[in-house]
Formats: sequence, C-alpha cells, structure tokens
Amino acid sequence: MSQHIIIKESEQFLERIKCSSDILLISHSNPDGDAIGSVTGLKNFLKSRGINSVIVVPNTYPDYLSFLDEDKEIVVYSLERDRAIELADKADLIIALDFNQLSRVDELEKHVLDSEAFKILIDHHPMPDTETFDLVISDTEVSSTAELLFWLLLSVQKNKGKSEMLSQETAKSLYVGMMTDTNNFSNSVSSGTFMMASILLESGVDKDMLQHLVFGGFSEERMRLLGHMLLNKMVILDRFGAGYITLSLEEQKRYNFSEGDAEGFVNLPLNIKGVNISALFTQKDDHVRVSLRSTNDFSVNRLSRMHFNGGGHERAAGGKLFIPFDQVSDYFESKLEESFDECIKKV
Ligand code: 5GP
Ligand code: MN
Repeated sequence: MSQHIIIKESEQFLERIKCSSDILLISHSNPDGDAIGSVTGLKNFLKSRGINSVIVVPNTYPDYLSFLDEDKEIVVYSLERDRAIELADKADLIIALDFNQLSRVDELEKHVLDSEAFKILIDHHPMPDTETFDLVISDTEVSSTAELLFWLLLSVQKNKGKSEMLSQETAKSLYVGMMTDTNNFSNSVSSGTFMMASILLESGVDKDMLQHLVFGGFSEERMRLLGHMLLNKMVILDRFGAGYITLSLEEQKRYNFSEGDAEGFVNLPLNIKGVNISALFTQKDDHVRVSLRSTNDFSVNRLSRMHFNGGGHERAAGGKLFIPFDQVSDYFESKLEESFDECIKKV
C-alpha cells in the first residue's frame, strides 16, 4: 500500500518543492475529477506551506468541477495558449499528475519535453514514462492519483515534523479526486482508500456536500439524454458479455449537451446480469472519443492499445477513433471478435 512504500520518494519530493521557485502542475486532456482534484489538491497543499505554483491543463474541465477552482486560477492551454507556453518555459519544476505518457497532454507535450525543469510524475496508471521524468512516484494499486498524492502529502508532513491534518481545501480536492475515479466507491477501492476517506472525514471534509456537488448537479436535459441512451441506444452483445452506447453530435445538440454530461454513461451496461465489458462512443468534431470498462479479467487497457489508439487501466481505459461515426458499431464488434481471447488476462 502506498502509505508504506513512498517514504524515500517523499524525501526527494520535499527537497524539490523546497528548492524550486517556479512550479508548474499539469494534468491530462479532457481533465476528469481525479485530474482536477489532484492538481488543485497539490496547489492548495503547496500554498498552505507558502509555496506558489500554477496549474495548466490542455483543455477545459467539466463545469461540475468548477467549485475546485473557485478563483479560476487553472490556465487552460486551448484558451490561453501563449500564457500556458510562457508558464511551461519558465518553470524550474514540473509536476505531472494522473497520466502515464506525455502524449496525454496534447500540444503541451513538446513544451514539457523542451523544458529544462526537473520533472516529477505522480500517477496510478500502468507503465509510467520513466524516460521523460526525473522522479516517478507511481503506484498502480491505488484507486486514484488523488489517493497516491494523499499518502505522499501525509508522508511529507511527517518528514517536516508536522502532524496536523491537511488543509480543508487540500482535503476537499483529494476527496473529490478519489470519489470520482472510484465512481463513488464502486471501482478500485482498497482498505487504503477507505482509510484515506476516514482520515479526510475526520479532518472535516463534508462528504454529503461534495457528493451533491459532483453527482447531484445535472441538468434536466442530461437526465432525459440518459433515458434516451438506455431506451434507444444501448446495444447488448450477449456472445461477448458486452454492452455499448453510441452518442452522436446530433443527440448532443438535441439534449443541450455540455462537458461532463456523459459522466457515468459507460458504466450503465455493467448493471445488467452477464454484462462484464462496456463501451461508450462519443462523436466529436474530428474524432470519436472511446471509453471502455470491464468488471472481470478482460483487459480493456489491452483492447484500447490494440484498436482504439489509447490505454489506461486493466478495467478502465479510453482512446480515440478516426473513422466515420456510423461505422463505430461494426468496428467495435469486429475488434471484440478478433481480440476477445487475447484480452482475457491470463492468471
Ligand atoms: P475515461 O473513459 O474515464 O475517459 O478514461 C478511463 C481511463 O482511461 C482513465 O484512466 C484514462 O486515464 C485512460 N484514458 C482515457 N483516454 C485515454 C487516451 O486517449 N489515451 C490513453 N493512453 N489513456 C486514456
Ligand atoms: Mn485517475
């Protein structure tokens, strides 16, 4: 468990944050709760110790996470390109959170590669990029980057001789990161995750409020869209124990879709008895966004790396397709047929 294995890294981490003057925190494109929870959690932690840092993410995050960035301090590369590049160029320490390969930061990648800054990666995905980063703090057993960061920051506090709890702001961000990546405590939770939750609740985190802010703030149109997806769009493939949903641009327009509205859709087919693999295909202007999940030994990470230009975890992965949207169903079914056996993890 992370709380035991990161003592050495935490010393190095502490040294670096103490001796750097321009700290840049980055996370992956299409930032989710773990991405935003981790970067804002770390920013708040550093702030509580009198250390300034800036956050840059490749593109906008969903509105339901905006309460973690109340002062609108996160710099979004796609909206403020020049400013983001200037911050990357000037940084002497870059800390990357919640991704394993630099390609996940899109155009920011080349600026990070060109930078002379010391580079730290904190992440929970398999196969972290040890070439690019000078210090890699990685644990694939934890629920989320927020959980890994939580144990790291507790360890840093101890090294500093401080035993007090994390600040309220830090605690809130880390709780949200963990709560969203586990889909509200239903995936990848371990005893360590509950321990983290317990410590954060003790420190005053308002779990009911956070739960409400994240899972209870959808629009009426989003709920109607959910109904439409379940009634008219979900396809079940009995022979693979799989289900999938396609969401077109036309449907997004019809239901006044906004970023984050499809959150959770990919899990819906998994509620059906006998369905252990699921997929969501969301049409974008120039590609199709792919989300994959499984609840058994089927590796969606492998399927995604082989056929969907992506990756992720064994049971939660994502990627992109560059084919016409009306060909997606046939493509998915044929790739399942072709690679089903290869994706079953040999125990
Ligand atoms: P989601 O379906 O929630 O977007 O992503 C599920 C998991 O797959 C996340 O852990 C995420 O990091 C990973 N993932 C999503 N999209 C991509 C992608 O385009 N490339 C890679 N390598 N991983 C992805
Ligand atoms: Mn994550």
